[in-house]
Amino acid sequence: MTVVAGVDLGGTAVNYTLVDQQEKFLIQGLCEHPALAKQGPEVCLKQIADGLQIAADKAGVKLSDVVAVGLDTPGPASAAGQFSAKGSTNFVHPKWANFDIRDGLAQQLGKPVSYLNDANAAALWGHYAIYGANSKQTSISIIIGTGNGGGIILDGNVVKGKNGFGGELGHVLIPYQSIPGTGGIKAGCNCGRTGDLESLCSLGAIERNILPYFLLKYPGHELGKMNPHDAAKLVRGLADKGDALCRDVFRVQAHALGLFFDEMINTFDPDALIVGGGAIEASKEFQSWFISEVRLGMPAQREEQANIPIHVIPDGDTAGARGAAIEALQLARAGGLM
Ligand SMILES: [Zn+2]
Repeated sequence: MTVVAGVDLGGTAVNYTLVDQQEKFLIQGLCEHPALAKQGPEVCLKQIADGLQIAADKAGVKLSDVVAVGLDTPGPASAAGQFSAKGSTNFVHPKWANFDIRDGLAQQLGKPVSYLNDANAAALWGHYAIYGANSKQTSISIIIGTGNGGGIILDGNVVKGKNGFGGELGHVLIPYQSIPGTGGIKAGCNCGRTGDLESLCSLGAIERNILPYFLLKYPGHELGKMNPHDAAKLVRGLADKGDALCRDVFRVQAHALGLFFDEMINTFDPDALIVGGGAIEASKEFQSWFISEVRLGMPAQREEQANIPIHVIPDGDTAGARGAAIEALQLARAGGLM
């Protein structure tokens, strides 16, 4: 038996999946092991290896059956998997600075390792879930979480870019002033830009920009009595239940995404648009309402492009590991390992 593994490394947990030659996923839900990333690369790499053994046991395969491993992590990191010199919020131990985690894991495991950033991995999974392996299609994915990540799959290949920032779509500017009912909103982003996608379509955007704006229009709303950080986390659940303020917050996010998708349609003429992340891990009714609002937020399209599909990424909480595994599958096949 030959299989490949997908390893989704976050700041606190590692999530695993395994895929066989027939592209069957051998682990369905989350399969997590503590990452211990705060203790630095040595401890963390050992944790990843230990957790991989546990995952292999769970799937009923031997560790030696795993011929290649796909790794994904939050960035910033180079396209080849070297962390930025400044480190990152998830990898704060000083030894992570400039650390080549792809090479480090390959040495730890004695197996070939491929690397993607977490948003690109989720995008690859979203693309694969629609088109399967060896597709020649083009898709644009947006992952709405604490921030806003994305991925471009162009003719079947992940666009990584020269420095690893390909598909960093959250920081693309959008004409947000055209979103109805948002006159005077302050749309600042952590990156320093004003009016990029992340500044209007992320959990951070809800906390800093959109919720404060709408609380002024809904005096006495229960969320106004809480601290903004805790209040922001409740918005999706309340929006799902139909709360008017929270629906307004999500309408703004959807219309921002509509404007952004319009830019992508004119840039790539893609086969599909894909949305994932915590923001839309909600009821089917809410997901369809959100997607219909995204469409309402898009300027009129050419007749040929008017019905471009907008998909929701399935199995959202395992999307990173699944996408990483698909990348490893390609690595294994290209290297004649399976
Ligand atoms: Zn930004």
